Amino acid sequence: MVKTIFIGDVQAGKYDGQEVELMGWVKRSRGSNKIRFVVLRDSTGVIQCVVKKDAIGDESFEQVKGALIESSIKITGMINADERADGGHEMVATSIVIVGSVNPEHPFPITESAMKAADGGETEFLLDNRHLYLRTSRMTAMLQMRSTVFGAIHNYFRDLDFTEYQAPNFVAGAVEGGSTLFEVPYFGKKVYLTQSWQLYAEAAMPALERLYTIAPSFRAEKSRTRRHLTEFWHAEMEVAWATNDEIMSHGEGVVRKIAGDLLENRSTELESIGRDLELVARYADSPYPRMRYDEAIETLQGMGVDVEWGQDLDYSKEKVLTQDFDVPHFLTHYPKIAKPFYHRVDPDEDKYVLCHDLLAPEGYGEIIGGGERTWSEAELLARLDEEGTDKAAYQFYIDTRSYGGVPHGGFGLGVDRVCSWLTGADHIREVIPFPRDSRRVSP
Ligand code: ATP
Ligand code: MG
Repeated sequence: MVKTIFIGDVQAGKYDGQEVELMGWVKRSRGSNKIRFVVLRDSTGVIQCVVKKDAIGDESFEQVKGALIESSIKITGMINADERADGGHEMVATSIVIVGSVNPEHPFPITESAMKAADGGETEFLLDNRHLYLRTSRMTAMLQMRSTVFGAIHNYFRDLDFTEYQAPNFVAGAVEGGSTLFEVPYFGKKVYLTQSWQLYAEAAMPALERLYTIAPSFRAEKSRTRRHLTEFWHAEMEVAWATNDEIMSHGEGVVRKIAGDLLENRSTELESIGRDLELVARYADSPYPRMRYDEAIETLQGMGVDVEWGQDLDYSKEKVLTQDFDVPHFLTHYPKIAKPFYHRVDPDEDKYVLCHDLLAPEGYGEIIGGGERTWSEAELLARLDEEGTDKAAYQFYIDTRSYGGVPHGGFGLGVDRVCSWLTGADHIREVIPFPRDSRRVSP
């Protein structure tokens, strides 16, 4: 049997005065020996059900009394509009079936008092119980918004006729540098978990021209910040013949679409977790300015931050820089010495590369990294030599230049980062069901 009636629709007034069957989980229950008030939740909302002994009979009533928090139940009854009720409606039950009961010897562990009493603190307690914490209204809202974000990205690229394309997760070489590579034993050899789809996407660029993916990337990040995971979801795109400016337009386009879709479809969820909708609307509606790296360095130095030309900007610096941004800003033209070999050198001034990072406001920092790729074979070989990178693992990549290389570019967007920035989450962990970091791979 497929469920047909959701609490959200009942609360929207679609079943007033009708008898319906609801299926869900007990969120709260209280009452006397004659009447119980069961707050039922499903994926779409909550509703209070009034359960009278007279109406459902002694045996069922005893079962309802014994139904602990998170018991699953089916409940039939009349829907009444009532302004005083939470959500504007309540159900008066006519029959109840307990589907999955909860053993009183081990009741649902997530309670206010258990959180307060937890040895390792509330955060660790909730992470230990992540599989159950997913059922809370906050996590439910986060996961629903996350789904909207994934959908927005797919729709953005598909509407523009991009081809969705998959790359392998076991790889022989690094994209983002060796320090964050996860090594995996592989039949007597060592391979790595991929840090990015990019190099394999560039191989398909001459076939597909416009391609994208949403896939996990893996990075052995030792520094634990509120925006780093070891396994994160990476939306990446690659476009033949495109310039840095064109790639930035897509970055701006997709982020504004995500913000717009959240606002349109998830404003209730955003508000439920305390997000200011006006901010999200601004990120959907306003253009994103572009500024050069040099200007950012000057700004930071002017603010008294200890930073020198040539350094990549880490979280601590981006945090200061973006604190006063009203919308995301692109930073372009980073120094060549701060970036890996695949970034194309600016033909006008070879100490820069034609790249960009998109930095989110509110002190959030980088959500996208992208730019033009080194596309001529000679330049690529020179950059690899300059870096001292072993070419063997990159032969396939060099080949993409040897056979009809063309200018091209792309970006990588951290999906979890965008979720956590747009929802205003305190930590990236909040927006992914089972977060992985240097200390935790369970549950
Ligand atoms: P950072 O400097 O913040 O570590 P990065 O410059 O290494 O990021 P890129 O290699 O440019 O990141 O990756 C593209 C995007 O992927 C980033 O802009 C970010 O949104 C996301 N990303 C990168 N590393 C992580 C991570 N460890 N956890 C979550 N998202 C990440
Ligand atoms: Mg980057």
